[in-house]
Amino acid sequence: MAFRKRFAPRRKFCRFCADKELPLDYKRADILRDFVTERGKIIARRITGTCAHHQRLLTREIKRARQMALLIYTATHDSNVKKKSMI
Ligand SMILES: [Zn+2]
Repeated sequence: MAFRKRFAPRRKFCRFCADKELPLDYKRADILRDFVTERGKIIARRITGTCAHHQRLLTREIKRARQMALLIYTATHDSNVKKKSMI
């Protein structure tokens, strides 16, 4: 059995369905940040387990948050990442 237990089996679930109190809102960048990579990409729902309905809303709120400068578009906008042109 070479392939057994390579990954711990963990049930994926939609966080917004599981917790009705969890706000899905562009102003809550702290929550939205869990659904984007450190480079600013929105994480696919097959990875996060978010349901189709909430992923649609989530995508919209992340894009709003980016416009409000609460989230980054790409890593080059992040001051923590060195720009190649500045070296
Ligand atoms: Zn959901």
